[in-house]
Order: sequence, then C-alpha cells, then structure tokens
Amino acid sequence: MDQRLFLKRYIDEHQNLFQRVALAIWNYAELRFEEWESSKLISGILEEEGFAVERGIGEMKTAFVATYGTGKPVLSFLGEFDALSELSQAGGTAEQQSIVAGGAGHGCGHHLLGTASLAAALATKAYMEQHGVVGTIRYYGCPGEEGGSGKTFMAKEGAFAGTDTAISWHPGTYTSVWTAETLANIQASFAFIGRASHAAAAPHLGRSGLDAVELMNIGSNYLREHLIDEARVHYAITNAGGLSPNVVQPKAEVLYLMRAPTLEQTKAIYERVKNIAKGAALMTDTTLEIRFEKACSNFVRNYVLEDVMNEELIAVGPLSYTEEEHRFAETIRQTFSEEDREQTMVELANLVENPGQEWLGQLRHKALIDEMVPVSKKRTLLAGSTDVGDVSWIAPTVQCYVTCFASGTAFHTWQMVSQGATTTAYKGMSHAALIMAATAVRLLHDPDLVRQAKEEWEERFANLQYVSPIPNGVKPAPMQR
Ligand SMILES: [Zn+2]
Repeated sequence: MDQRLFLKRYIDEHQNLFQRVALAIWNYAELRFEEWESSKLISGILEEEGFAVERGIGEMKTAFVATYGTGKPVLSFLGEFDALSELSQAGGTAEQQSIVAGGAGHGCGHHLLGTASLAAALATKAYMEQHGVVGTIRYYGCPGEEGGSGKTFMAKEGAFAGTDTAISWHPGTYTSVWTAETLANIQASFAFIGRASHAAAAPHLGRSGLDAVELMNIGSNYLREHLIDEARVHYAITNAGGLSPNVVQPKAEVLYLMRAPTLEQTKAIYERVKNIAKGAALMTDTTLEIRFEKACSNFVRNYVLEDVMNEELIAVGPLSYTEEEHRFAETIRQTFSEEDREQTMVELANLVENPGQEWLGQLRHKALIDEMVPVSKKRTLLAGSTDVGDVSWIAPTVQCYVTCFASGTAFHTWQMVSQGATTTAYKGMSHAALIMAATAVRLLHDPDLVRQAKEEWEERFANLQYVSPIPNGVKPAPMQR
C-alpha cells in the first residue's frame, strides 16, 4: 500500500482521539511552564502506545521526551501545548466573549500543534511496525514556547542531542513549507528600587522607581531610530509601583523583549538597552536590578528537507471545506479591518518568489486559503521568533504551515482562539500530521536524504557553533502574576 495512504488511514481512523486531545488542551489553556494537564495527556498517550517517556528536563517538569524504536536515523517531532494570557474566548463564535474573565486562551494554536505532532509520531510508529522499518522516532513535549523559550532551555540541557532531523509545523492561514528565517531574541526584566515618600508633603525625600521606568522607556524609544530595520524592541510595565499618586513609587519594573536577525545583533541591542537602564537609574538616584529571563536563536532553513516536505505536501493534496466552514470563515473575517484582511496577502507576496497580481487577486477573495503556496529559495525574514530556532542550530529542521484559520486572522487574537475549536482547525491539524508523518517515512526509507540534509547543515554551520543564548544559572520563568 502507498505509504501516504497508510498514514492517512491511520490518522483518519484516530480522528476522534486527536480531536478530543486538541479540544482538551484548548480547554486547559495552560500558561508557560504550567502545562500540567496538557503535558500529562500527551505523554500519557505516547506511553500507552509503547513509547518510553522521560518526564521533566532541567527545571521544567512539563517538558518530556518520548522515544520509540532503535538505531538510525533519529527523527524528532516537536510538540507545543502552551496558551497565552488574557485571551480566554468561547470557541466557534464570531463574537468576542471570554469563558473566564482574565483567563488564558490558545491564541497561537499550540493545542493543534502539539496534537498534530502526536498524531504524526503515532502514525509513523504504526507504519514502522507494519513494515518492519528500522529507526528511532522521538516526540519532544516542549513547554513554554510563548515568552518562555522552553526548547532553548531543553537545548541547554542537551535534550536534542542525537537528533538527525527535526520536524514540526505551525497552524496558520495558508499551507506551505516554512521557508522564512526568524529573529533571535532576549527577554530581560529591569527593576528600579528607590524610596517611598509623601508625594505632596515630602517629594524631595522620595526616589521614584516609576520615573526610572518612564525615562528608560523614553531612552529606548529614541534608540529605535538607530537600530537596523529588522530589529524590534518592545516592553511591558509589569510593576508600575502602586496605585497611589500621593506616594512616590518606591519600586517599578519593566520587561523588555529585544529581537534581531542574529543572536550577536540581539546581544548588542541588549547591551545598549542595559546602558539606557543604567542612565535612568543614575538620573533618578534609584538602584537597578536586571534579571535575564530567556532568549532564543534565529531559525535556520534546510533546503533539502524543505524540498522533501514540499513534495509530500503536494502529494497529500489540498484541503477542502464545507459550505458551513466557508461561511463561518467569512463571518470571522467581518470582524477584521480591511488592513487585517490584507495581512495574509502581504505575507504571501513577501514569501513567494514571483507571486503575480493575478494569483494574489484570486486568493484575496478566499476566506479559507485551500491551495498550497509554492515554496521558494528567496530569503525572507519573519518578524517574530520561535524557540524552534535553537533546534535548527543543533540538527537540520523543517516545518510547515497549514491552514487552520480564516485568511487574515492575526496571531494572538480572540479570533484565533475561537477558530481553534472548529472543524476547520481540526482538518488543518490532521493535514499537518499527515505531511509530517509522510516526510518522516520518506526519510526513514531514504537515508541518503538524511545525509544530504546533514551535509547542507554542516556546510551552513561550518564557522558557527551553537552556544546557548541563555546564561548559566537562569531558570525557566512562569508568567508573573
Ligand atoms: Zn506559536
């Protein structure tokens, strides 16, 4: 039997299980490094299916590795399952409506991500058993992708050692092999400690942490003009010093996220931001405490693996939708601005070699992009980061995007949470599982492809060495509340 047919049949036959898992994780909506139920659910299924599971890596209790088989090649599926804060939202509705006020929600589709990788690992295992194929498959349960860089901490512990190739995906608004590079980043917190006093009676005795935060932010906003175009600097005030204007705020804290195409560039920006913080402390006579929170590396492509995955993506064929699915996507799109709706087109125009106005014009009217986007060798940079970047520095890595949401849906929005619990999303999830499993089976059958991917990787990293971007002693940080 054709290997793709075998894998498709396996995934179809287990459809109910995978949908149940995805919906359960969507409902758990657990934040970074606290994915207790999500991690337990996926690792438990893998264990029942005969994978050897090792739970807890470094300081991360929700990280795990599940292994099946022996010998080479070692193919690793990457799974994520964390949610985002403040995004609680009812599923399958085009109205903004939280389930739990202030609660978390799956605004990046990681419930689909982790479940499709699970389905891919199980389908590949079933194929190996049925056909007596030798090799090792691993499922990496990677916690804290959102603001935690779980994989980078896992990489620091040596968890990905021995991987020959890594395979992953991300739910999105179109279907294509992931060809974009991503930005490296560093996240650090700056606390300014001063002295409280009566803001009217004795302001001269106070030293304001909040003043320091404000001055630091002004300084870094001026810095932006003098950074390369691709760099990004953003911040959130995590402690404004209190709620009383009549007290000089004795302590305030701001969390910075700095990004650039390479880690070296990001580190240089971090040094400049640190100098600005020191300046703010000097100006306000406060004491500065810097806490390095996390970092991740840029994602490095692998053309050999991209081609293999693309062949499988084409062979698997396009997605198709029911009238109802189309209608719901249209309704969701009514909640976007014109500019939002155009965003997917902007991304595609950037990604594809020669998109052509006719092709874009035709896609523009589709609420759900069912056709496959052709890959290109063109260099494109995605203005975002992923901790999959660190894995790509350790082994050749390939990913794809699969349509799970209406065209124009922005990441980290209530619309993405809502669509995450629909049949459209589950279809995309099964499709991604099939593409990943088919890619893995190709690699298992053709060791030469693994060798070529490794050669390309070795050439690309000839003068580069992976050094963890996270300094010693830094621990994974759950969300501060
Ligand atoms: Zn994501």
